[in-house]
Amino acid sequence: MTASVHDLITLTPKDSCNTKLAAGPWDFDTVPGYGPGSSQADRLPDPVSRPGQLPERYQLMPEAELYERIVAAKATLGEELVILGHFYQRDEVIQHADFVGDSFQLANAALSKPEAKTIVFCGVHFMAETADILSTPEQSVILPNLAAGCSMADMADESSVETAWEEICETYGVDPENITPDAEGKVPILPVTYMNSSAALKAFCGRHGGIVCTSSNAATVLEWAFQRAHRVLFFPDQHLGRNTAKAMGVPLEQMPLWNPRKALGGNTAEQLREAKVLLWHGFCSVHRRFTVDQITQARAADPQVKIIVHPECPMEVVDAADAAGSTDAIQKFIAASSPGDTIGIGTEVNMVNRLAAQYPDRTIFCLDPVICPCSTMYRIHPGYLAWVLEELVAGRVNNQISVDAAVSVHAKVALDRMLAAKPKA
Ligand code: SF4
Repeated sequence: MTASVHDLITLTPKDSCNTKLAAGPWDFDTVPGYGPGSSQADRLPDPVSRPGQLPERYQLMPEAELYERIVAAKATLGEELVILGHFYQRDEVIQHADFVGDSFQLANAALSKPEAKTIVFCGVHFMAETADILSTPEQSVILPNLAAGCSMADMADESSVETAWEEICETYGVDPENITPDAEGKVPILPVTYMNSSAALKAFCGRHGGIVCTSSNAATVLEWAFQRAHRVLFFPDQHLGRNTAKAMGVPLEQMPLWNPRKALGGNTAEQLREAKVLLWHGFCSVHRRFTVDQITQARAADPQVKIIVHPECPMEVVDAADAAGSTDAIQKFIAASSPGDTIGIGTEVNMVNRLAAQYPDRTIFCLDPVICPCSTMYRIHPGYLAWVLEELVAGRVNNQISVDAAVSVHAKVALDRMLAAKPKA
């Protein structure tokens, strides 16, 4: 029997991921791994941000008291404070945010508040690093829980990328530290990193003529890169790289996967010479959960359903959807839909639920029947937020994210290149 859309969106608790992380992330702060949730099975790389424990009184505080304390601390700190909340953040935290957006929108939001001495970033580690790079020297950036990393960002570390770069450059017969353009004015390869990466990798791109991209501007950035290079090394998300390059007409056989654990990434020298985009072997644990089967089921339940997914989803899922786009594009897609429409979304569930609440005259549901939030984002519990804010009121800055100046200067070069890259007229 075919399920109705109502069946697809009416889920019982057994359909949820382990919810322990939502209630008490501090129980997992010192446990190796990312904790219960969608990225539970991820290999914990080294190094990864490690936390301090939240003082016990905040762990035991009732939700209502945490709420009151956060509101009171915010009022005391006034214009000196700005709280940023990522779209994927839980509602108990988002309700206190001054700005809600994707990682880059939030970094820009911080820039728009130079009077705020402190930026509290309710997102994950790489986002707080980017905010620190783009903020003024007078501003400090706080990540309420240092264990809020990103499993995808952690899949590409600096030393693996440096090693890959040396191997790749050797294959092309060029000096990895000094690549010069050929007669066509192009270098053989250029690095492109997704925003979801460490500051060290953004700096790597800055030093090697490369650039940063977001899920909103990946095609523009690749266009920029192909004007300057015959091929790119794209990290850490293979899916965003593949989906974007495929839409630009790059054949799949020219997009080999680079597995950092294998010699030449698991490729032959010939494959590397033929390549247009070398895709790092990374993925988002949340978006990897979406499948073509889920889309097939949604269409069987309602042939009129519209499906939009994030480009971090696997290629087959993007191909089966009606549209694919960044969190911002998903919001615009919903805003442009009509009352009565049914829309299945392939992205993180907190954002989907918020859109469903915002548009009650539409049926909006998450394609994944097992409700899994971004488990690393979930590490920011209101207890951590209350703690860092009350510490600020007491004149103490806890959990500051401070990118080393030598890294920051190069990372900013790659970020500035992204800002200057313009879509084709
Ligand atoms: S949703 Fe995926 S890419 Fe985004 S922060 Fe979570 S793990 Fe990282």
